[in-house]
Amino acid sequence: MTDKNHAIALAAHPVGFPKDSDFQHLQLPKPTPGAGQFVVRTKFITVDPYMRGRMTGVRSYVDPFQIGQPIPGGAVGEVVETNNADFPKGQAVLGMWGWQDYHLSNGTDVQKLDPRLAPISTALGILGMPGMTAYFGFLNICTPKAGETAYISGAAGAVGAIVGQIAKIKGLRAVGSAGSDEKVEYLINECGYDAAFNYKHVPTKDWAAEIRKLCPKGVDCYFDNVGGDMTDAVFANLAPFARISICGVISQYNLEKPEMGPRSTYMTLLVKQARAEGFIVSRFMQQWPEGIKQMATWIKEGKLKYKEDVLDGLENTPKAFMRMLKGENMGKQLVKVS
Ligand code: NAP
Repeated sequence: MTDKNHAIALAAHPVGFPKDSDFQHLQLPKPTPGAGQFVVRTKFITVDPYMRGRMTGVRSYVDPFQIGQPIPGGAVGEVVETNNADFPKGQAVLGMWGWQDYHLSNGTDVQKLDPRLAPISTALGILGMPGMTAYFGFLNICTPKAGETAYISGAAGAVGAIVGQIAKIKGLRAVGSAGSDEKVEYLINECGYDAAFNYKHVPTKDWAAEIRKLCPKGVDCYFDNVGGDMTDAVFANLAPFARISICGVISQYNLEKPEMGPRSTYMTLLVKQARAEGFIVSRFMQQWPEGIKQMATWIKEGKLKYKEDVLDGLENTPKAFMRMLKGENMGKQLVKVS
C-alpha cells in the first residue's frame, strides 16, 4: 500500500469518440481517517455508457463531470483503516467514489455488502444498477405477457443479456441483435435467446428484414438500448399495442451532431396504438431490494446467468470505458483495481 491515491480525471470534454488524451492521471495524497471516518480501498470499478453523457460538460439528468476532478461512478471496495465501529476493517462497501484507489467516508455515502451472498463485483452488474435497469425497465415498462415476442437491441451487454433471460423466465420469445458472432452465440447458447443476429453483418443494413424473419408475429415488447437506425427497423415490425421501453440510445452518444427525429416512428406509434416510455432506473430505487432479491433467487435457481469482462489495473479504466463503447466487452465491463 502506498501513501498516494491514484485517481483518473477528465483532461478535456471528449468531442466525438473519447480518446486517451481526454483523460489525465492524478497522484493525490492517500486520505487519513478522522473521528468517525474510514478509508475504503477500491476493488472494482464499473464503466457505464451513461458516463459518456456526463463527459460532455452539459447537464442532462445528472451534472457533468468536472475537468481535473476524479471521475465519480460506481465502485466497490473494502475498509482498510477505520475510526468507525460500524465499518470495521474488511467490511465490503458499494459507493459512487469512482475512478480512484481510495475513498474517505463517514458511512453516509456507502452501502454495506455481504460477500457471502454474492461476489461483491455483482453489486456493479447483475445485482446492481444494470441488473435493476433490466428488471424494472422490462417488467414495469414493457409489461410482458407469456406468448409474446420481446426484441432487445444491444442484447449481449450488461443490461440486454439480462432482459432476454427475464423474457424467457416470463414465457416470451426473446430475440436480439448484437455486434459480433461471438455475442450472438453467447445469447443463444448461454442466455437462452430464441434467435439473435449480428447487426454488423447484415448487407445494406436491412435490419428490418432480419427482424421480420425472426419475429414473424411482430414485436410486442421492444427493449431499446441502441436507438437510431436500429429502432427504425424495429418500429417497422411492431405488433399492435406494442410497448417500448426506451432504456438507452448508445448509437447516438458519440455523435458530434445529434440525429433528428422521430418522424415516421410517430405515425407507427399511432397506427399500431403502441406506447413508448423512457425511464431512468433511479425511478425504481425504492423497489431495488425487491428486484435484487428476485434476481439473486433466479441466479441461485440457475435461471439467470451473468458474464463479467474484467480489465486489470486502475490505469486501464479509460481503456475499459472506450472498449465498452466500441462493443469489445463480452458482458459487464469492470476494472479490477486491487
Ligand atoms: P453494454 O451493453 O454492456 O455495453 C455497451 C454496448 O453497446 C457495447 O458492448 C456495444 O455492443 C453496444 N454499442 C455501442 N455502440 C453501438 C452502436 N452504435 N450501435 C449499436 N450498439 C452499440 O452497456 P449497458 O450498461 O448494458 O448499457 C446498455 C444501454 O442501456 C445503454 O444505452 C445505456 O445508456 C442504457 N442504460 C440505461 C439506464 C437507464 O436508467 N435508462 C441504465 C443503465 C443503462 P455491440 O457489440 O452489440 O455493438
